[in-house]
Amino acid sequence: MGKTKCIRDFECEICHRKGMLQILTKNYARVRHYVKLENGKPVFEYHRNSMEYVKSALNSQIQKLDLIGQNNIDLKLKDSSSNQVRGVGFEPTNPYGTGS
Ligand SMILES: [Zn+2]
Repeated sequence: MGKTKCIRDFECEICHRKGMLQILTKNYARVRHYVKLENGKPVFEYHRNSMEYVKSALNSQIQKLDLIGQNNIDLKLKDSSSNQVRGVGFEPTNPYGTGS
């Protein structure tokens, strides 16, 4: 079964533009770049990336995601508690329409 793994916003090893990483097999990965729309269909170009590059790039990405995830949890906790306090008595009215 084909279980292609796709990762968006992956920086291409070849041209350093961002594209959609597609890991087709253990040994074959490529980055898909959108080129243009032709006859109503998108045209893509593909750059093969080495697995060494893909793995190391993904590893550093995962570390970043982990950090962001922890921050998000923190912010959510703070947000939900402050929202409950702020939500009472604060009506988001049209800021431009007051007092006219
Ligand atoms: Zn590329």
